[in-house]
Amino acid sequence: KALQEGAEDYLVKGKIDTRSLLRALRYAIERKVLEEALFAEKERAQVSLKCIGDAVLCTDLEGRITFLNHVGERTTGWSFREAAGRPRAEVLRVLDGSGREVSRDEMPMAVDLDQTLHLPASWTLVRRDGLAIPIEGSAAPIHDREGNSSGAVVVFRDVSAARALALQMTHAAEHDLLTGLPNRLLLNDRIGQAIAVAPRHVKKVAVMFLDLDGFKHINDSLGHTIGDQLLQSIARRLVANVRAPDTVSRQGGDEFIVLLSEVERWEEAAVAAKRMLRTVAQPQAVGEHDLHVTASIGVSVYPDDGLDAETLIKNADTAMYQAKAHGPQSLKFFKPAMYERAVERQSIEESLRRALERQEFTLHYQPKVRLATGAITGAEALLRWTHPVRGLVPPGEFIHVAEDSGLVLPIGKWVLREACMQARAWADAGLPAATMAVNISAVEFAADGFLDGVFAVLEETGLDPQALELELTESVLMRRAAASEAILRTLKARGVQLAVDDFGTGYSSLSYLRRFPIDALKIDQSFVRQISTSPAETGIVSAVISMGRSLKLRVIAEGVETPEEADFLLAQQCDEAQGYHFSRPVPPRRFAELLTGGCVPRHAAAKAQPP
Ligand code: C2E
Ligand code: MG
Ligand code: MG
Repeated sequence: KALQEGAEDYLVKGKIDTRSLLRALRYAIERKVLEEALFAEKERAQVSLKCIGDAVLCTDLEGRITFLNHVGERTTGWSFREAAGRPRAEVLRVLDGSGREVSRDEMPMAVDLDQTLHLPASWTLVRRDGLAIPIEGSAAPIHDREGNSSGAVVVFRDVSAARALALQMTHAAEHDLLTGLPNRLLLNDRIGQAIAVAPRHVKKVAVMFLDLDGFKHINDSLGHTIGDQLLQSIARRLVANVRAPDTVSRQGGDEFIVLLSEVERWEEAAVAAKRMLRTVAQPQAVGEHDLHVTASIGVSVYPDDGLDAETLIKNADTAMYQAKAHGPQSLKFFKPAMYERAVERQSIEESLRRALERQEFTLHYQPKVRLATGAITGAEALLRWTHPVRGLVPPGEFIHVAEDSGLVLPIGKWVLREACMQARAWADAGLPAATMAVNISAVEFAADGFLDGVFAVLEETGLDPQALELELTESVLMRRAAASEAILRTLKARGVQLAVDDFGTGYSSLSYLRRFPIDALKIDQSFVRQISTSPAETGIVSAVISMGRSLKLRVIAEGVETPEEADFLLAQQCDEAQGYHFSRPVPPRRFAELLTGGCVPRHAAAKAQPP
């Protein structure tokens, strides 16, 4: 009973001898020493676990909580009393780098592998109240006396402060202290990224070097504090004027670089740069001052002006210096010619879009005459565009823009309809019969519904299809020869006349020319010009004319300017001619007068054979 109550040993009265008494006393003393040592050891462990700066959590083999120290309580939000016996995952909820709850359990792994494992650096702990805390730590197995695993211990710590500091340090390394904008280091990185993805999206990347005009003067006269505030104000304005994927960075001093990472055309960069110039030029209230500053901008564009960040920045810088030399608030592209062409094109396209509805188009008509008699055989409709600001714009300057933008389709439709209505009106007025020639561009010819469009116009205007002649260039016909042949045959079946325009300038295959149901060849004016400029080389003109004749086609010479040219062509048995020598393209009223006369004045043959 005494032993049950805690006595360590007993001696029986009367049987005590010196030996057994001594042994009992020795055992009692040794045991007491051991107990003391054990207690001290346990106490030391407990105190360490309680005082340690790290959270400590122990589980048994089933993963249930068997211990949680104070820091662990604080970090997880669970008291040990409440946590004891609960599954580890409930008390120590962790998310992986992508924010998903960690299903793989590192602690059983530590037990299974019988080794210490580090928790992945991307893990965050979800505290009981929901707060996410980045943690670092390790898990290790606990062994029993026989060396078997009996559970695991996880040691972890809250690293929010360290992470925040690390982030702050990277931010500081990559940003400008004064404005908080990315610095050159980060900008280089961003330019690199933009270049890497640009080819995939068939995009351009623009680098704009912006430098304030006369900033030094403000800094010197009003002081650095005002100067700094002005730079901050400008930084805010620039940022407010770019899109999300773009980067505004400060290079130091009064220099900023703006990266436009997704530019489709040069003009976009120009528009953005002009916006920057305007926004900087707005008055800025700094302290009690109302400051007016301007900036100059140089622009370089990837891939045209450089293939890496360094070259692009260098070239934008060069362009900026040229802009400065041009006076304050200037904008210069590294390659100005390219830019000006692009801007010109863009502006033509913009006004072309509105030209139809604003009725800025008219048609002029140039007579084609029979060389032998001077009689007018027909008219070629030539498009004229009167731009509200630029005035008369020749077709050579806008037809290709119209083709590239697809605007040639509605414009071509208008031309065809207008020309057919005009031809019908002249016929109705009883004027001598003349064919109406209309130029058809490659884009129109290849478009779906081209044939339907032509037939619809003939239907609507009631013009005799025989009176309509479509002019197509060689390259248009040859591009898709088989398809062209089918379209031409359908037109021919209706009686529409077909002419090959600018003949001799393209790549014709004679066998195709023979196959196509063509009525006429128009010899390009470059050949006609040779008659007067290099009379020794008129062999080509003669050859082309006789070739046309051998193909049994009507041959029309374009651009006849002199009587000599006309005489030569007549001598070579060229059928018809067209050119300033007979008449320039003229407005409809004037053409009606020419038609009434039946033939054109100043014609070489007309002199011999007056009307
Ligand atoms: P094209 O069809 O070869 O038209 C002949 C061009 O030569 C016209 O220029 C005409 O004004 C010009 N020309 C006529 N006689 C002479 C001459 O004696 N000397 C010189 N130097 N030039 C002469 P334009 O009107 O400027 O038209 C240029 C081109 O634009 C046309 O060449 C044609 O390809 C195209 N074009 C004109 N109108 C239209 C249209 O309505 N639709 C389409 N798709 N293209 C058109
Ligand atoms: Mg023509
Ligand atoms: Mg021509």
